[in-house]
Amino acid sequence: MNTLRVVRAHSKELKVVALAARRNAKLLAEQAKQFRPHMVCLFDPTEAAWLEQKLKPLRIKVVTGEDGLTAVSTLASAQQIIFALVGTAGLKPILSAIRARKSVAIANKEPLVMAGELLSREAKRFHSPILPIDSEHSGLWQCLEGREKESIKKLILTSSGGPFFRKKIDFRRIRPEQALHHPRWKMGPKITVDSSTLMNKGLEVIEAKNLFEVSCCQIEVLIHPEAVVHALIEFVDGSQLAQLGVTDMRVPIQYALSYPKRLTNTLPSLNLVQVENFHFFKPEVKKFPCLALGYEAAEAGGTMPAVLNAANEVAVERFLRGSMNFTEIPKTIEKVMRRHRRQDQPTLNQILEADRWAREESEVYA
Ligand code: MG
Repeated sequence: MNTLRVVRAHSKELKVVALAARRNAKLLAEQAKQFRPHMVCLFDPTEAAWLEQKLKPLRIKVVTGEDGLTAVSTLASAQQIIFALVGTAGLKPILSAIRARKSVAIANKEPLVMAGELLSREAKRFHSPILPIDSEHSGLWQCLEGREKESIKKLILTSSGGPFFRKKIDFRRIRPEQALHHPRWKMGPKITVDSSTLMNKGLEVIEAKNLFEVSCCQIEVLIHPEAVVHALIEFVDGSQLAQLGVTDMRVPIQYALSYPKRLTNTLPSLNLVQVENFHFFKPEVKKFPCLALGYEAAEAGGTMPAVLNAANEVAVERFLRGSMNFTEIPKTIEKVMRRHRRQDQPTLNQILEADRWAREESEVYA
């Protein structure tokens, strides 16, 4: 939706040639009428015949299922594909797009966490850039642009700290509704809980390692409650560069779409006078073990990040259903990670197998 808003605001420079949705045929039909792509994919085929009828007069081709996703991801007239596919569904189409030498932008975390090493390797092989949309990584990317790798000492990701930062409460008694109350912004339930456990940052450490090819000890996390500075880099001479801005996903999406150019927009710019104070804190790793687990999985690499991601998904779902304590989330993930026999340089099938195994294993501990 945000992507289409960006395109609508820059209809001279940007054109939609394909659209895909999971099952909302009605909305997809409306969007197709407005943006006139060559092809649309409705992943769930149930209403595909209805959609086909609707779009026939406009000569828009309708495709479905996994083959349909691959067709839109490799469409000849597409230069860039923006992926926002949850779970494992995105992995195959992203790989197809990379191998078709498309520029690929990934909006959700799972693909770069689960299969980051594989995607980066293939992207290099096919000279297809992977452009970050996650705001902290977009910030890092902008700071790193044109810099020599040898000049970089470390990358710093910021975190708002979530609802339990510096809270003196019994973590075992945290209820789902407390974890779902984020102090800064509204997001889906899974990512909001991830922000409250700091797993969101743990996943972002893995993402950063895979996107920018740095070692884990070069990645630092700082709590920054004002959420104005999204990311910083430090050079070997101690000098630091930061990326600041308003928190609106349209900014990183627009940059991925316009890169290497910059386009104007009507979004408000950051008013530093209004911000007044900037605070930075070290994260409390003991209180938030999920962050340490994220580092551990990043360091281990191979199939371990996929295992961490799957175990976390199961644990968070259980916590939201009220059948698991807040403090049991990291414990479950840790147990599953300890039992995993990690594979190096995994294929897509090995990653999917590790994901499946970790989900089953997490249910045992839960
Ligand atoms: Mg983020």
